[in-house]
Amino acid sequence: MGVFFLFLLKIDYNSPFYGLFRQPERLTMNENNTLTIALSKGRIFDETLPLLAAAGIEVLENPETSRKLILPTNHDNMRVIIVRASDVPTYVRYGAADFGIAGKDVLIESGGGGLYQPLDLKIAQCKMMVAVKQGFDYQKVSSAGSRLRIATKYPNIAREHFAQKGVHIDIIKLYGSMELAPLVGLSDAIVDLVSTGGTLRANNLEAVEHICDISSRLIVNKAALKLKHAQIQPIIDVFAKTVAQQNQA
Ligand code: ADP
Ligand code: MG
Repeated sequence: MGVFFLFLLKIDYNSPFYGLFRQPERLTMNENNTLTIALSKGRIFDETLPLLAAAGIEVLENPETSRKLILPTNHDNMRVIIVRASDVPTYVRYGAADFGIAGKDVLIESGGGGLYQPLDLKIAQCKMMVAVKQGFDYQKVSSAGSRLRIATKYPNIAREHFAQKGVHIDIIKLYGSMELAPLVGLSDAIVDLVSTGGTLRANNLEAVEHICDISSRLIVNKAALKLKHAQIQPIIDVFAKTVAQQNQA
């Protein structure tokens, strides 16, 4: 019986049967008119503050100094929850948060299914890259038909990239500090996010291939967008206007 329930809880959002399993979304939906916004600490939080400010939303505590995971705002019916970057889509998908902000990296890796993604916020911009130890002859070893060991937090993105090149890879899944892997012989290369390249240089690594550009997206729970349209749509509109202004040449 327990096993049967585990099976029910393992929801595959890419499955055509997804519709059959949608119940949990309704169970956790914030039924009242409180808006819950899911953010991750660090650069996404920091770069989201100006967007929230433009919408008249002020977060009243600093997640870097507060240990609280639910932060009040200047609106009684709006709160911010602080979750791990890769958990933001999960909170929004189930309706535990009405909307949130997640990196494209996280959305590609997790599939992004079941979410409304109305807006590229153009914040937390970086690139998904392949990097190796300086001097490593990547072109030679990455020709079609060869085999490489890749350490990464993004196994799906890595698999897809090397499949397109016809390069066989063994994935070594890591949760952080990918830069270390080639230095100590754990892998030939890493697939990771790079912005300035400072961390790569500090560790004698170099980027050798650009996989895709990454920025953060607004993600909205589909049911919340319908049920709380009057609250959410104006925020989306202000975000869109502010992003356009921020990115004017
Ligand atoms: P975590 O440590 O929880 O895995 P990070 O704080 O490193 O998450 O990254 C959170 C998000 O910020 C990532 O999902 C990505 O979209 C973005 N990001 C990560 N690294 C960089 C970077 N070097 N420059 C800009 N944005 C980044
Ligand atoms: Mg990090």
